[in-house]
Amino acid sequence: MGCQERQRTRLAPMLTTNPFDDDKLREECGIFGVSSAETASAIVALGLHALQHRGQEAAGITSWDGHAFHTHRAMGHVAGNFDRDEVIRALPGNAACGHVRYSTTGETSLRNVQPLYAELSSGGFAVAHNGNISNAMKLRRELIRRGSIFQSTSDTEVIIHLVATSTYRTLLDKLIDALRHVEGAYSLIVMTPEGMIACRDPLGIRPLVMGKLGDTIIFASETVAFDVVGADYVRSIEPGELVIVTHDGQVRSHRPFGETHPRPCIFEHVYFSRPDSIVDGSSVYSVRKAIGAQLAIENPVDADYVIPVPDSGVPAAIGYAQESGIPFELGIIRSHYIGRTFIQPGDKVRHLGVKLKHNANRALIEGKRIVLIDDSIVRGTTSLKIVQMMHEAGAKEVHMRIASPPTKHSCFYGVDTPERTKLLAHKLDIGGMQDFIHADSLAFISIDGLYKALGEAKRADIRPQYCDACFTGDYPTTLTDQDEAVVTDQLELLAERVV
Ligand code: SF4
Repeated sequence: MGCQERQRTRLAPMLTTNPFDDDKLREECGIFGVSSAETASAIVALGLHALQHRGQEAAGITSWDGHAFHTHRAMGHVAGNFDRDEVIRALPGNAACGHVRYSTTGETSLRNVQPLYAELSSGGFAVAHNGNISNAMKLRRELIRRGSIFQSTSDTEVIIHLVATSTYRTLLDKLIDALRHVEGAYSLIVMTPEGMIACRDPLGIRPLVMGKLGDTIIFASETVAFDVVGADYVRSIEPGELVIVTHDGQVRSHRPFGETHPRPCIFEHVYFSRPDSIVDGSSVYSVRKAIGAQLAIENPVDADYVIPVPDSGVPAAIGYAQESGIPFELGIIRSHYIGRTFIQPGDKVRHLGVKLKHNANRALIEGKRIVLIDDSIVRGTTSLKIVQMMHEAGAKEVHMRIASPPTKHSCFYGVDTPERTKLLAHKLDIGGMQDFIHADSLAFISIDGLYKALGEAKRADIRPQYCDACFTGDYPTTLTDQDEAVVTDQLELLAERVV
């Protein structure tokens, strides 16, 4: 987990720091790298700023000046940490990479903020990681047993120790050797004295794209970061591909894992990525509109207005409105001036968050039948409050339509999800969920409908085209640490019974 500090097991309940967004799945990292340009670190700061939605609790940049590596890592937003000249001046050199991260309460600590850096026998090694290594705990135990001393609790550090202890000769071979031991999701930007390496796990679970700024190769989690610095999008890094850019500008591509069967995260298209990004060759905005249109075909309803839950429900609501012919209107207005520190998390004030963030457009809604469009339901607490808000504003009927299938399973690939038992769709069937949120009707897009919106005929029975495990429970990799945690729990239970 580039940015998750611990394996999330069912023994480890999730806490969140933001009372306003605690009912969404949350992407945990964004990465950006510039291989060779003057003011590389300033460009990285701008790129990270465009990726801020992927992680808002800490940010870091490491630069290489031809002789030494320089790092600045801090808690907080990119703007607050990298908007001063002296900070950027302290990150000299023509190559730099950076990272934004999200973490959970009680785990936030500077030692886990990336890029992580280590001095290896082959020289300096800086790494920025998006994703989550699903056998990190097991690898960590083995490495510690063999003498490795860890500086952080981040799973990413496992990669560093695997590289450090690899017996291969070149750094590239050491990295490939390390990655062969790793399960799960990783998009990496690695910086060494020889150059920059960008790579994506064989399934391509988390995104990673390559762009060009003049002659300079740059890498980012999303294309939106290229737009901000005026770079051109070139292509996605392919699943299982390593792209190496040497400091003298040569670019080489390696595919050390042979033929792969990619399963990129389908939720990037539903919610995580910005709508103005291109993910795996598709416009996120267009896909979200297509999802909304498919939702309207599958789940029609008589209503006066289609209303998005802002902001993430907007493209799907446009698609739903266009397909159904029901007018699209803004029935919920979002305040953009909610400070993260305005209210601290806590049960007594948490419920106020939704009202501070969203307000009903009462003059529009009163006496009307409305279709509310949202991207997902996680715990259901936000949906409940928004439906209530619509009723209180005088809506005659409130029909909820969701632009993804029911979220029934946790993600172990670098996305922050509540433990499974907290997911509303795990606890209740659709009728029960409808009652819970007090909607007049509730419907979700089907899993095949979602694939259809992505241009596929349907979800393939064997080797599905995407990771969709949070909907289907069909995890595309083994989950070694999770499985071990379950076995340990079962053994403990057995032991208690014996006693
Ligand atoms: S489990 Fe869900 S959120 Fe996680 S990678 Fe798969 S599709 Fe994406």
